[in-house]
Amino acid sequence: MENQIPHEAELIERIGWLIRLRWLAVLGTGSAIALSWLLFPGALPLLPLIAVTAAIALYNSQFRLYNRNLMLGPAGMPRLRQAQRFACIQILLDLVALAILLHFSGGVENPMAVFFVFHTIIASILLSRTISFVMGTVAAALFAAMTGLEATGVLQHYHLPMLGDAEPYRMTGYLLAVTGTMALTLWLVAYMTSSITVRLRQRDRELLQSHQASLAKSRQLEVLNERLRRIDAERTRFLTLVTHELRAPINTIHTSMELVLSGYLPPEKVRGVLKRLMERTEELSDLVSDLLRLARAREEASRDEQLAAVQSADVLQSVVELMKAEADSKDIFLSVDVAPDLAPVQAHPDRLKLVWTNLLSNALKYTEPGGIVAVSLKQTPQHVVGIVRDTGIGIPPEDQDRIFEEFYRAENARTASPVGTGVGLAIVKRLIENWGGEIRLESEAGLGSKFVVRLPRADVGTTEEA
Ligand code: ADP
Repeated sequence: MENQIPHEAELIERIGWLIRLRWLAVLGTGSAIALSWLLFPGALPLLPLIAVTAAIALYNSQFRLYNRNLMLGPAGMPRLRQAQRFACIQILLDLVALAILLHFSGGVENPMAVFFVFHTIIASILLSRTISFVMGTVAAALFAAMTGLEATGVLQHYHLPMLGDAEPYRMTGYLLAVTGTMALTLWLVAYMTSSITVRLRQRDRELLQSHQASLAKSRQLEVLNERLRRIDAERTRFLTLVTHELRAPINTIHTSMELVLSGYLPPEKVRGVLKRLMERTEELSDLVSDLLRLARAREEASRDEQLAAVQSADVLQSVVELMKAEADSKDIFLSVDVAPDLAPVQAHPDRLKLVWTNLLSNALKYTEPGGIVAVSLKQTPQHVVGIVRDTGIGIPPEDQDRIFEEFYRAENARTASPVGTGVGLAIVKRLIENWGGEIRLESEAGLGSKFVVRLPRADVGTTEEA
């Protein structure tokens, strides 16, 4: 019942309260009857008074049982409607019982007639404004009927000896004034109480709405917070990795420089050390460039960059041209197979060049002389698919999930080529995913690797491929 308005949920509780209150009324009525019998024996008809009080006690015990079933029933609106009907029946029965009790205990003479007001108030608090007016009118009608029937002699009038003269019950002017005042009081009570109740309910509703709105907001904030936490954790991890990766070459450079500057190094070895120094500096420079590219790829992921329609075949051809010399120098056969009339892809031209360069230079780097590197491009209804295959050292199964992580290098790659930052594939993956594409790897250690890149075509929508 999360969305139930508080006063509706309260109704069911309040009915229990009404039932408990009625036990008090039974007790009070019983005591009043006993007292009147002690003080003025024979003045009031005991039997009907006791009978009505017993009837109230009887129906109240039935209500108690029914109310328990209502509380245990399934949650939701039907139970609420049942509860409203249940409250109406109780109030009506109480009004009738009160009218009968009044009739046998002095009628219009009995000041307890004001008790009719209580039920009108209860109806205004628990039920709708219309129902509270109906209840007020029923109470006024019962009162008028009782006084009218007694005045006309249809019903016997029982005089209350302790409260003075018996005559006013027959005085038309007095009776009209009393019943008129009673009716007016009941309607006014119904009006005033229900006005306050309506406003309170409105406020309840508004409070509930704003509570729900703030709950939704705080859920949104939680999600955002979680995202920020993850980004922050990833950034910290990245910073730690970067610092770690930068430290090694810087340390080597520092030690080499110290060695040269110390003057203890034989002159014939100085050149060798300086050469190592140079290589380390180049490595460091490569690493810094890779890091810059990675940072840019990460940043691109966070903003919605406008992508262009790029001819991936043209970009690939330009990269192959640049790589040819390296392939020849390593005696690697480089084959290119591009399907005709390829659709453009959604990407960034410079970065797409970086993707092919990384994949091709890895293939050349990790392939032994005499091996083969084959590149192909074809298209499917939604994507352009590029495949870079080599007959190189391959990637062991335990490393395959990790090679797209920043700075991760497989052990066999470290042995085959000490030079490498382990950042290239992380950049490639990020870029491709930024463009809505994906990269997949198939490899067997010792036999070679195959990288499959799927890029969304720029000439079709972004719907999923069957
Ligand atoms: P780097 O080549 O500088 O080490 P990359 O991020 O480009 O960094 O590649 C990460 C790792 O993935 C490499 O160190 C290597 O272990 C593995 N790898 C990538 N391409 C290949 C390939 N064609 N053949 C074998 N291993 C590869």
